[in-house]
Amino acid sequence: SEFIDIKKIGKVYERKIALSSLSLSVKKGEFIALIGPSGAGKTTLLNLLAATLPPDQGEITIDGQLLAEMTDQKKRAKKIGIIRQQFDLIGELPVIHNVLAGKLSEWGIMKSLLSMFFPQDKQDAILALTRVGLRDKLYERTSALSGGEQQRVALARLLIQNPEIVLADEPVASLDPARAEDILALLVKIASEGNQTLIASLHSVEYAKKYFDRLIALKDGYLFFDLPASSVTDAH
Ligand code: ADP
Ligand code: ADP
Repeated sequence: SEFIDIKKIGKVYERKIALSSLSLSVKKGEFIALIGPSGAGKTTLLNLLAATLPPDQGEITIDGQLLAEMTDQKKRAKKIGIIRQQFDLIGELPVIHNVLAGKLSEWGIMKSLLSMFFPQDKQDAILALTRVGLRDKLYERTSALSGGEQQRVALARLLIQNPEIVLADEPVASLDPARAEDILALLVKIASEGNQTLIASLHSVEYAKKYFDRLIALKDGYLFFDLPASSVTDAH
């Protein structure tokens, strides 16, 4: 069976059908770009895969295990991580504490606040921040960083979490175009070095073709096309 198997999932918000009987399978290590107009269902699909939203119909299996039954948060965080357009960082905290939050533990955020008692975790966080180019901003207040830098903090947190599957919901949409490609390239580099499976929603078909193996287009909650990146032309 496939690494990720999505079987006939459906999601309805009130009376709006966001996803309609969608089936897809994903191989381990694939880099997939989800494209399609606003409202197509991309965020909904990513949230279903992240298990932050339950499907109304159908099921998702990962490595043969039902996602709905992966209730241990810590184990699930080793399988699946998500980064979003809004970064989900705590602005008041120093950069390093936001990164330490990727070491999800039974202590939650407390552990990151007590990081001086966890020197190994702290070393890992410093290494991750070095890899994303923020070695000199460890103790800066996160909200004082630029958008591009905050997305790098989110990438460092993802490095620490090191999940097998990386989901990214419009990871560069809030950044100016010049910075957006740098961050996207960094995300792809991190996922490739970590042998991760990457599924990212993107606005830019150009970037999708440049950095991903396979393009999946959604439209009104349906699968519109599913093609190797090399065969997608402007006519699509
Ligand atoms: P995309 O990420 O492709 O823009 P979404 O998954 O966000 O698409 O949305 C799919 C559809 O579901 C859209 O029509 C959107 O308006 C609707 N939708 C999304 N979230 C909600 C919600 N919380 N309540 C009602 N409708 C929603
Ligand atoms: P980028 O787009 O590469 O992320 P910017 O050009 O937006 O960076 O920002 C350049 C510098 O200005 C960064 O070092 C950042 O720390 C600083 N900076 C940006 N926004 C703020 C802010 N609101 N408060 C303090 N410093 C900021």
